[in-house]
Amino acid sequence: MTAPHKPAGAPSAVINGHDARSAAEPRTLTNYIGGKWVASDAKRFAEVHNPATAQLIARTPLGGAADVDRAVKAAMKAYPAWRQTPPVNRVKPLFKLKYLLEEDFDDLARVVTLEHGKTLDESRSSVRRAIDNVDLAIGTPDRMQGTALEDIASGIDCHTVRQPLGVFAAITPFNFPLMVPMWFLPHAVACGNTFIVKPSERVPLSQMRMFELMHEAGFPEGVINLVHGGKEAVDAILDHPEIAGVSFVGSSPVARHVYSRAAASGKRVQALGGAKNFVVVMPDADIPRAAQVSTESCFGCAGERCLANSVVLGVGEAYDKIRDKLVEEAKGIKVGDGLESDVTMGPLITRQHREKVLGYIEKGIAEGAKLLLDGRGFKDPKHPDGYFLGPTILADAKPEMVIAQEEIFGPVLVLMKAKDFDEAVSIVRRHELGNATSIFTSSGKYAREYRYRVEPSMLGVNIGVAAPMAFFPFGGAKGSFFGDLKAHGRDAVEFYTDKKVVITRWF
Ligand code: NAD
Repeated sequence: MTAPHKPAGAPSAVINGHDARSAAEPRTLTNYIGGKWVASDAKRFAEVHNPATAQLIARTPLGGAADVDRAVKAAMKAYPAWRQTPPVNRVKPLFKLKYLLEEDFDDLARVVTLEHGKTLDESRSSVRRAIDNVDLAIGTPDRMQGTALEDIASGIDCHTVRQPLGVFAAITPFNFPLMVPMWFLPHAVACGNTFIVKPSERVPLSQMRMFELMHEAGFPEGVINLVHGGKEAVDAILDHPEIAGVSFVGSSPVARHVYSRAAASGKRVQALGGAKNFVVVMPDADIPRAAQVSTESCFGCAGERCLANSVVLGVGEAYDKIRDKLVEEAKGIKVGDGLESDVTMGPLITRQHREKVLGYIEKGIAEGAKLLLDGRGFKDPKHPDGYFLGPTILADAKPEMVIAQEEIFGPVLVLMKAKDFDEAVSIVRRHELGNATSIFTSSGKYAREYRYRVEPSMLGVNIGVAAPMAFFPFGGAKGSFFGDLKAHGRDAVEFYTDKKVVITRWF
């Protein structure tokens, strides 16, 4: 069935009536402010390339304070009426959006693959998780309710109400261009706030498509806004006196910067940062399964996932047993353009990022790690200019090596040995980041002990990626998270509302 909002035969990747794949005329993108698509004041632009072909597909304006201020003014203007809209009516555009997203599902996935490079299946999963957040936010009239207690003293009652705070903003990374803004926006607006999204300048297209659908879903003018930009736009958001709070996802140095600068200007902040995720494989684990799952976890999305397995810690005899299995699994990966149906791993996001990941591989070899599988020479004959790297495995790593310390964010699996469970726990605990981790074991005792003792706050037991489920909170620990309340789950309503306590006595 053809979606009613879309002309029959309309090509996918069409945003504002323009096919993003058109080589003839890469488009300069516009902001969405006050219910309209408007030109940015920017004088500088970031180029958006299809990473599989290196084709230039769009130019993102690198807007600054003027663009941000325009969006804040539109959001402030919309706020009083939106706040007074009954919560059951505030979620009506989300109902419609849910329907539009289901109808547009495959096209949305296609735009994600086009601008990011991941496989269509991976893009589809990310669209599904975005929709999960819309589903969850539709229940906000229930979730936003306060509490009450009669007779806190004789004849005196007390109740709390949750109230929105005003204008919020989200600043998001390149690796999940459609999904990550949806961790925040549906919850914030359902709670009665108005919102600004600043997507990654490297992958702005799927968010623009999302805003086209949100426009169609009927959000009043100014309730949702999109401003393109890079550091200048981010700093303008952090400093703007009329923005009540900021949700950030990206690398740890930028998360730290966002947290401290936004907090200094009195805002609520949740800043989700980078990752170096360890997977502990115990000798009693199902080794073939652990190898299969941790290979998928490491090389899925070409390793550009904050939940990616980065270091496999083989405990005792598990180390030798899993080593060859990992190589075998990784050799089965088919690298290429994510739009092709048999491809299981796409390219890296940019040429520069590919160079950076290559640098880590060279560094690992120079530090003495053993190259078990070398993806450096991979070329896709169909797309010789694409930013591809094959899966790479570096073994015999030591905790102090750069490849075991820094986030590589590419298809590189680091293999390390721990003599026993305690040493594995100590290696994980010593790392400054703490986003996610997994343990493979058949022992409930080790699984519990691991959960109890390590800090990363997203933990898998015989699971490769402790995925972001809309209904639960999501965010790491230590240097991977700055703030108190995490993304989505119950924390979303906590973050986007204030609690007012009312004590009442009637004479
Ligand atoms: P990034 O930190 O480079 O960029 C994130 C956002 O910050 C972008 O919108 C960008 O425009 C802006 N930005 C970049 N540099 C800035 C600066 N100096 N000052 C102010 N703003 C700046 O991150 P990325 O490369 O887009 O994304 C990858 C990173 O995001 C990885 O570290 C990954 O682990 C992390 N990530 C974390 C999670 C999580 O849930 N913890 C989820 C996805 C990605």
